Amino acid sequence: MYCPKCSVEFAEGVTTCSDCDIDLKPEPPPGPEAEFVYWVIALAHRDFGRIGLAESILQANGIDFVTQGATTRLAELNEPMRVCVRPEDEDRAKEALTELPSDE
Ligand SMILES: [Zn+2]
Repeated sequence: MYCPKCSVEFAEGVTTCSDCDIDLKPEPPPGPEAEFVYWVIALAHRDFGRIGLAESILQANGIDFVTQGATTRLAELNEPMRVCVRPEDEDRAKEALTELPSDE
């Protein structure tokens, strides 16, 4: 049994997802690969403020994004944080991010 929302598989006999509180389905939800979207990097930067600004611009433009590194502290590994978007949104995102003040 699978949760149609979070895709977690449960043992036989379980009927409700304990996380989502919804009924399980016998089949996994269509396109579980959706969890493994190939994101493209729209912006990589070490400055958290700039990343935040980029996030609000993308949000204002209705562009789906994920930020990598804000929680895993890529900065400590000397890696920039990354704001990633879906490939089909890449051009739109980069266009929108031209609103960012120019880099130092
Ligand atoms: Zn669930």
